Amino acid sequence: MGRTCDGCEEAVGAAEIQHDVDVNGTIVLRLHPECLRAWLDGG
Ligand SMILES: [Zn+2]
Repeated sequence: MGRTCDGCEEAVGAAEIQHDVDVNGTIVLRLHPECLRAWLDGG
């Protein structure tokens, strides 16, 4: 069962760091660290 990054839609490996970002308390995004940064920068 793979998890995909909500930023780049590529798989997030089990050994990779992923960030769970809670949005409005209802949606949780899973992002690579660099994708989290891009997401934050892009608003
Ligand atoms: Zn990503």
